[in-house]
Amino acid sequence: MSYSNIETALIHGGISIDERTGAVNVPIYQTSTFKQDGLGKMRGYEYSRTGNPTREALEALIAELEGGYAGFAFASGLAAETAVLSLLNTGDRVLISSNVYGGTFRLLDKVFNHFGINYTISDTENPAAFEKDITPDVKAVLIESPANPLMTVTDIRAVAEIVHKHGLLVIVDNTFMTPYLQRPIELGADIVVHSATKYLGGHSDVVAGLAVVKTKELAERIAFIQNSTGGVLPPFDSFLLIRGIKTLGVRLDRHVFNAEKAAEYLVNHKAVKSVHYPGLPTDKGYEVNKKQAKNGGVMISFELKDNYDIKVFFESLQLVTLAESLGGVESLVCHPSSMTHASIPEEIRKKVGITDGLIRLSIGIENIDDILADIEQAIAASEVK
Ligand SMILES: *Cc1c(COP(=O)(O)O)cnc(C)c1O
Repeated sequence: MSYSNIETALIHGGISIDERTGAVNVPIYQTSTFKQDGLGKMRGYEYSRTGNPTREALEALIAELEGGYAGFAFASGLAAETAVLSLLNTGDRVLISSNVYGGTFRLLDKVFNHFGINYTISDTENPAAFEKDITPDVKAVLIESPANPLMTVTDIRAVAEIVHKHGLLVIVDNTFMTPYLQRPIELGADIVVHSATKYLGGHSDVVAGLAVVKTKELAERIAFIQNSTGGVLPPFDSFLLIRGIKTLGVRLDRHVFNAEKAAEYLVNHKAVKSVHYPGLPTDKGYEVNKKQAKNGGVMISFELKDNYDIKVFFESLQLVTLAESLGGVESLVCHPSSMTHASIPEEIRKKVGITDGLIRLSIGIENIDDILADIEQAIAASEVK
């Protein structure tokens, strides 16, 4: 059964009930293999790398939520990206947004490069300018919007229109938005990837990745790659993700409510030099983001003025936790240039604007007054007198 209202689909979409027993939660089928009733007589499953009922329920759910033909669950976001990039051949090139997750950059720069698959960092935020980067070897464009960590916005529909004229694949990393806030396939994407470790899981307790494809042909190719390369999500982790996704809507409503307040607070703070949040009407990505997403999402990055010591700021925070990752119920903070984006060479970081003063906030669902009070005291402590 599929539901057009996403709040309902989050809970009842895909395969949500165990057909055999009526259990209202899909059980954790913790098994590696399945009995065959005779040679060639399988009951739909043969081996859990190839297919497992708990993982399959999750895969059906994410396909429905993203409006795609099929979904695939992997052991991490990067495993999902690895499978998707494995569609490319030696000599092919992929264009990537000017700021992407550091691990995505490293995967292309240090792993796929060895197989002769190249990348170009391209200004996807500027659809007119980025078209010149489409050389004959380009086979795909990988977009993050909002992109990590500067929250720059790419017009997914505009890019998809240009890219499709050239017959290329449009891949969108929808980790920061989730299908609750943005549905890239409706905007023209061919493939959506997720680090489900973040909002979809939502509780900082599972590492997982998902991919959703638009067509049957892509589904067959990714299914083959998933089974052949084997980076699949285990049954228990699949269960945790299904459980996380059920509350995605209510969590994000609260996350976004808090994030909007936090962005407003930072923009008006005398210690703050810049704020990057596409939910602010003054943000350069605001208009485009509004066209393609429900709101500005949750992630905010900002810089303090030069008379504040960010080392002291990070050490003074008590509630907001200094940690990699994002998207959990608890507020996290990170320093992109030395943490999430350290694998991007300094000169590229500088060029795209990931300064050493940049602070990235993942606003949780605690009471916003407590979050802001903690940030306020840390800012005050970090002022160089
Ligand atoms: C975390 C993240 C990834 C990588 O996902 P893992 O689950 O850590 O492998 C990819 N893209 C974005 C935008 C991320 O935030």
